[in-house]
Amino acid sequence: MSSETAAATASATSLDVFNRRESEVRGYVRAFPTVFDRATGSTLVDADGREYLDFFAGAGVLNYGHNNPAFTAALVEYLERGGIIHGLDMATSAKKAFIEAFERFILEPRGLAHKLQFTGPTGANAVEAALKIARTATGRATVVAFTNAFHGLSLGSLAATGNSHYRGAAGVGLDDVARLPYDGYLGPDVDTLDLFEKMLDDAGSGLDLPAAVIVEAVQGEGGINVASASWLQRLRRITEERGILLILDEIQAGVGRTGAFFAFEESGIVPDLVTVSKSISGSGLPMSLLLLRPEVDVWKPGQHTGTFRGNNLAFVSARVALETYWADDAFMRQVAAKSALLRGELEQIAAEHPEQGFTVRGRGLFQGLVCDGDRTLASRVSKEAFTRGLVIETSGAFDEVLKFLPALTITDDELRRGLAIVRESLAAVLAG
Ligand SMILES: *Cc1c(COP(=O)(O)O)cnc(C)c1O
Repeated sequence: MSSETAAATASATSLDVFNRRESEVRGYVRAFPTVFDRATGSTLVDADGREYLDFFAGAGVLNYGHNNPAFTAALVEYLERGGIIHGLDMATSAKKAFIEAFERFILEPRGLAHKLQFTGPTGANAVEAALKIARTATGRATVVAFTNAFHGLSLGSLAATGNSHYRGAAGVGLDDVARLPYDGYLGPDVDTLDLFEKMLDDAGSGLDLPAAVIVEAVQGEGGINVASASWLQRLRRITEERGILLILDEIQAGVGRTGAFFAFEESGIVPDLVTVSKSISGSGLPMSLLLLRPEVDVWKPGQHTGTFRGNNLAFVSARVALETYWADDAFMRQVAAKSALLRGELEQIAAEHPEQGFTVRGRGLFQGLVCDGDRTLASRVSKEAFTRGLVIETSGAFDEVLKFLPALTITDDELRRGLAIVRESLAAVLAG
């Protein structure tokens, strides 16, 4: 055994090889410095057997928890029977069953006539496809995106993303996006769409008629900012009246996170384009979808292609997830109850620390404790919580928001245990 191998095996959670060989770009491993080995539900276990409660859920990929047994059984069975794993975008039984389930459990009950485009497997792939078809369909270049938006890091999607940390790595111009203030950006008393509407109708504003507007109903990476239903309704009206396409980026807020399958449902609007990824496969396998209103689906055959648009294993677990959780409203009723528990506890934590001026914002199991007074606090609490066995992330341009994103399948007991760790961690950090 070489000395390096010996050293590596000395501690199963040693990060030496990562520090030695993995690019400086690595991110989450710095915030959660251990070697994870297995997981179930809302519990992660590292290679030393240490358990962590998960309030992060893979940034919203694991809405149904880790290794949900219903999905694992279907995946194992599919593998064992020699089901197609890769098929480009050819028709397969797994894909057929997924489309049928998505039509039956999601599109039809919501009266959505949208067609499905299977893009490459990342969220950014779906956003790129949405931006491209919006520009192609309208023949216009400008896309409006909002402050604190996060739409991905490939060039087209990065142009729509707000955060300067990410934008700084582009290396080329991030063009053809106009930035406007998101709901609440100028405080609770200003309707930021007044500006947009005025600019659209003013030949002197310098804003070209946009191809599309891209928006998150709840901004995940940008600090858990929530757009009100009335703001989204007005945005839909403004865009519809002028032939501007409306793209809802549901990659993080979708698949039940806010208490409905789509975060835009509460507002009753019908977007032209909807991007879905993160939790759509249920199992954590990569998968992305773009929903298009039939009138917008002006692609020519094979015009926007890609090798990995048919992750058939993902289709299998995605189909089982729809059948298991979306056949009736039982799952969303449970999520509503858990959301109320989480929200109530967070408001209590805020009330326990009036000197910090904490605020709470979010929808469903997508909540943030906003630590604006001392912007380093949320990161310090996240770090402290990890040493106490809780994985919890921050969000916002200054990492000033402690982000609560547990699996939707988390138990009340697990929620309470995690919140107790947050309380202890906060107390420890404040005691300094
Ligand atoms: C994560 C995310 C993306 C990008 O998805 P990737 O799979 O990381 O490319 C886009 N939009 C939103 C809202 C996201 O949360």
